[in-house]
Amino acid sequence: MTTTPSGGARGTVLVVNSGSSSVKYQLVDPVAGEAVASGLVERIGEPRGAVKHVAHGGTTRREVPVPDHAEALRVVLSLFAEVGPDLATAGVVAVGHRVVQGGSRFDRPVLVDQHVEDTIEELSPLAPLHNPPNLTGIRVAKELLPDVPHVAVFDTAFFRTLPDAAATYAIDREVATTYRVRRYGAHGTSHQYVSQKVAEVLDRPLEDLHQIVLHLGNGASASAVRGGHAVETSMGMTPLEGLVMGTRSGDIDPAIMFHLHRNAGMSADEIDDLLNRRSGLKGLSGENDFRALHELVEAGDEGANLALDVYLHRLRKYIGAYHAVLGRLDALTFTAGVGENDALVRARAVEGLDAMGIEVDPERNAGRTDGPRVISPEGARVTVLVVPTNEELAIARHAMDVIGA
Ligand code: ADP
Repeated sequence: MTTTPSGGARGTVLVVNSGSSSVKYQLVDPVAGEAVASGLVERIGEPRGAVKHVAHGGTTRREVPVPDHAEALRVVLSLFAEVGPDLATAGVVAVGHRVVQGGSRFDRPVLVDQHVEDTIEELSPLAPLHNPPNLTGIRVAKELLPDVPHVAVFDTAFFRTLPDAAATYAIDREVATTYRVRRYGAHGTSHQYVSQKVAEVLDRPLEDLHQIVLHLGNGASASAVRGGHAVETSMGMTPLEGLVMGTRSGDIDPAIMFHLHRNAGMSADEIDDLLNRRSGLKGLSGENDFRALHELVEAGDEGANLALDVYLHRLRKYIGAYHAVLGRLDALTFTAGVGENDALVRARAVEGLDAMGIEVDPERNAGRTDGPRVISPEGARVTVLVVPTNEELAIARHAMDVIGA
């Protein structure tokens, strides 16, 4: 058990993110805001699985067959037993599970019971790639760690407050209702965590702030947050809509799908694969990682240059649109892998937006720190920030709140 400076004991939370072929985990001390240990099991179901466990300042790697999620979690627990920290003495008070789709049902994290499990399963058609492995992770973890409460934290929950005007697609209402077609958003845990952090950094009440948060990772999304409540977000019924992403197209004319079906003979599954895995930066340039993309641009690659231009054009368009949705903008924040690390993307994303009060100071933008920082010039109308996201910590804190610890 972790010990507080006063000598008292406090709990840790095991955070589990169970994907289709991987399980990510972190043992988090939610009070200190630190990861005590973390790791990743990849290539579940393939002949050789890859396991990485980071604890006590060292990294343990294994290549072992991991046929399914149950075995993945067994491997994780055996690494905790072998390498440490010992879960029996680490004071695990809860397991927090990331669940991608909470539909219209969940507007906050909940304690997992049979009804919650059934509902996550029932929502699977809305997130067929995500909810089933999320649920498998929950079921397996409950079996292996039966004595602690399990909490489900939904990626969509923060966006349950979207006004109907933002959440509703303009299609036949009966069809939309029957098939639960609406904007649910995603990355909500990150958008909520970051927008709350911005209020702390600026030392201003969250209730007073009009914010745009740009979560730019391999997946990317924007949100407009008024007074701590999300009022608009770029991901839609699924994470495919919105910004240009590493391998996803983001917004396209829906008629392109009919066109491809009718003229290229592509099936729904093939179009799904095209738009989710072979589009975005990768589709335009062959690379989905910004570090590789910049190298191509520097080498004069035309496709990479176009990819960057398309990415930034879309981003600027969303900043402008969300400024209009909010009416007034106090803070614009970059987060996630690209948002936190790529000064060039940040600078170019706000290029030409100075008339809207949005600009970055080149020196501040180029600087690096581990924590949150302001990158707009002193006295700027809109404060532009870089705030590292921490979804695991947010999930751990949600889990503590749910169990009342
Ligand atoms: P996800 O959680 O969606 O997989 P991350 O938030 O970890 O994504 O972001 C991953 C992406 O961040 C990479 O694909 C890469 O484009 C970008 N990235 C990571 N580090 C850097 C860096 N130092 N400079 C520029 N881009 C980076």
